[in-house]
Amino acid sequence: MVPRSHPAIFSQKFSLTSALLVFSLVLNGLLLLRPPKHGQLLSDDNWKGMGWTRKAAEEAEAVSLQYQCSGHGYVFVDTFITDDNGSLACECNACYTGLDCSQFLPDCLANANEGDPIFLEPFWIANAEAAATVVPAWYRMSYDVKDGLEISLISPELEKQIRAIHELVGNAVTQGRYIVLGTGSLQLINAAVYSLSPFHAPNSSQVVSASPYYGAFRDQIEMFDSVESVWKGDARAWIKQTESLNSSTFIEFVTSPNNPKGILDESVLTGNNVRAVYDHAYYWPHYTGIPRPADEDVMLFTLSKLTGHAGSRLGWAIVKDYDVYKRMYMYVRVNTFGVSHDTQLRATRLLKAIINGYRQRQPKRLEDGQTNEKHLLFHYAYRVMRSRWQRVERIFSGSDRFSLQSLEPGNCTFFRRVTGPSPAYAWVKCEREEERECAGVFEKGGIIARNGKAFEADRRYVRLSLIKREDNFELLERRLRALVSSSAIVTY
Ligand code: PMP
Repeated sequence: MVPRSHPAIFSQKFSLTSALLVFSLVLNGLLLLRPPKHGQLLSDDNWKGMGWTRKAAEEAEAVSLQYQCSGHGYVFVDTFITDDNGSLACECNACYTGLDCSQFLPDCLANANEGDPIFLEPFWIANAEAAATVVPAWYRMSYDVKDGLEISLISPELEKQIRAIHELVGNAVTQGRYIVLGTGSLQLINAAVYSLSPFHAPNSSQVVSASPYYGAFRDQIEMFDSVESVWKGDARAWIKQTESLNSSTFIEFVTSPNNPKGILDESVLTGNNVRAVYDHAYYWPHYTGIPRPADEDVMLFTLSKLTGHAGSRLGWAIVKDYDVYKRMYMYVRVNTFGVSHDTQLRATRLLKAIINGYRQRQPKRLEDGQTNEKHLLFHYAYRVMRSRWQRVERIFSGSDRFSLQSLEPGNCTFFRRVTGPSPAYAWVKCEREEERECAGVFEKGGIIARNGKAFEADRRYVRLSLIKREDNFELLERRLRALVSSSAIVTY
């Protein structure tokens, strides 16, 4: 536990406190000048009530500004770890320990397994004020939201911001399309399968995805084990089975850009009975050029990979057909009765902060954003991901033991130029004959990688996550360098 001492932090604290004070004075002034309207808060008690935001903000800032955790950890408002005296201790990044996270654990494995997108943490720290969410204790306590006379599960403001962010980026058509929210896009995988499967048909729908595919598609279908759908593995295995394709419904999941390869994939099956669900979790300028707005029948997006807020658990589907939309909506309604309003509010604030960052600065090309980059999410995120990819490429270049997926530069209509690859994952192959179990080779090298078999690919492949914290990436980079230069052979 180390109190912050950096002058920049103090000036940030000072400016935030001043901003809060000015905001409060201006708001008070405005409320005094305006005549009371129905529903407006103007009584003395209400004035006193205004103090809660200040107190809540002070508490939140006191915690987040007070501890620097040696740059390798965090203290949040609900951090529960305490030292012997009962005061707060830091929550340390992986491979760091101690009350202030200053001790590095040299034998710790570099964990490149999970696709946890926390590389965007520094962006949100730099934009703390623009994106902070204040949640009053009585905020939307009801199950639903009143939208005029209608009852809805989605906040109209969030729906507006989701459409606006797609409009800003140009990565999806939303006009005339329906939007369904899910608890992460994970919830929408099965919602889509349920909605596209034939009602009361004698045959279940067959769910497939071209290998290597994101393993959650398979895991969910197998776990839910519904009479309506059955997992049928690699989509390519069905290309020539036209008889099957014509006699039963196929649902093909297409992840574009692909997880793990990073390539803009398209469906491999065609036929009247094939329904494609496009998972566009990574179809944002951080991870790929955006050649055109996607306009498929069912498209899944997630806040996790857009803003990095995986823990808030928000995904959305953009759906063309009203009946499919209605069934997806009913699935979510029956399953969880919608997504937490607190999450919806937070997502609204985050999306607004991104959009305002661009409205206020209006950069058109990648180069235009350089000076303002810390307020421009896509510019910032692309730069980080591009640099990580270049560093990984450099390590593997010239190696005959390992090969890395090959990615081409692509046109990005958002940045108005061709951009170099910046994928979320490295997809690595162990090339030596005797090194058939690639994940084991990486583990010996001090790295936890995801085994290719999780993607229904060969065990000679592994996936490395490039989207975690900088600490994690730097350790991965060091271990990769050592592994690639070592001549030891790891056999299994
Ligand atoms: N689709 C893909 C391709 C993913 O990689 C992920 C997360 N790893 C998801 C969906 C799930 O995202 P969410 O956090 O919204 O559940």
